[in-house]
Amino acid sequence: MITNRTVPLLLLLLTTLIMLHSITSFTPRLLPSPRFTLKTKRSLLRSSSSITNIHPPTGTHSLSPYLNPNNKNDQILTLLTSDGSLKLTLLTLRNLLNDLSLDQNLSPLSTRALGTAFTCSTMLASGMDTNQIFQLTINGDGPLRGICTVSSSDGTMKGYVGNPTCEGVELINAIGKGTVQVVKNHPDWPRPYNGISGIGGGGISIDVGVYLAQSEQRECVIFGEVEMKGFLVTGSGGYLIERLPEASEATSDAIEKNLAELAKGSQNWFMDSLVGGTDLLTVASMILGEEVEGKVLESIEPATTCECSLERLVRSLTLIPRDDVMDIIQKEENVEAKCEFCGKMYRLSPDDVKREFEKFEKMNEIKMKEEGK
Ligand SMILES: [Zn+2]
Repeated sequence: MITNRTVPLLLLLLTTLIMLHSITSFTPRLLPSPRFTLKTKRSLLRSSSSITNIHPPTGTHSLSPYLNPNNKNDQILTLLTSDGSLKLTLLTLRNLLNDLSLDQNLSPLSTRALGTAFTCSTMLASGMDTNQIFQLTINGDGPLRGICTVSSSDGTMKGYVGNPTCEGVELINAIGKGTVQVVKNHPDWPRPYNGISGIGGGGISIDVGVYLAQSEQRECVIFGEVEMKGFLVTGSGGYLIERLPEASEATSDAIEKNLAELAKGSQNWFMDSLVGGTDLLTVASMILGEEVEGKVLESIEPATTCECSLERLVRSLTLIPRDDVMDIIQKEENVEAKCEFCGKMYRLSPDDVKREFEKFEKMNEIKMKEEGK
């Protein structure tokens, strides 16, 4: 039963135009309306109060470790349908995004942009090899001046927006026109994997969905959103449903039907569920419906990460023309630098700069001597 609200899972087979139309017709608007929808969710929970269609992973006896009442903790939950047709990844990121928004002094609009990009890249990083990274760059010409997020399969992420204080425009206009770029890399690979597609103007998760279909030929439904009340993130997260090779048509059809039913209840059903306190395991049960069974693969708590350090700052200072640095020291000015990824401020007095430079040069000398041997 495919209605015009159904998200086709066979994105690969559709033309870009049809695909864009289909995703747009399903996906709730990226920008949530200002109204605060806390209590609309009960009606959607009719069949999901008991999770009978999801099984724990082999070796465990209960689903209780994966429950997260009221989405109190941030969580990445991955499941597989029992027949191996589809992989579901669900994410809630509210606490992390609130912290990051404070650390980076982000405006609500910049917070929404970064949170949605984080949601997409982190769900797509889930299941990758250890040490592999997934970098998503939205290169738009709008006043937001681009978004960059880097996620790993262990749930760690870092990222920034070009303009942390962007406000006063719709998010799609803040992003503007440009490209969606993906870089995947692993220390063992000879070179990184690069992919690119255009910004279609439908919202971040729609653009990422188009990228996946066009550049990687992956058959996915991807959705991410952030809901805010003033400066407070009340809900942030998304879901990714990926059709695996040789997936059963019956399972795909059943999930499509469930998504259409959920969207019929409310176009904003996912964010309403998250904000209303419905945890991801229950949301997964709603997506699977009564016909499809699933099993949990893993549940991890996402976290921000950053490799910035004083040493790295000094190393980047050594790339500035030496005369400019000496000028700063002579004028007795402090060097201040802020890490774009985590918002950490570094302050170096002229004496600190002198000392760190001497240290750096001494280390370089030793290194050159060792290489000369
Ligand atoms: Zn940092």
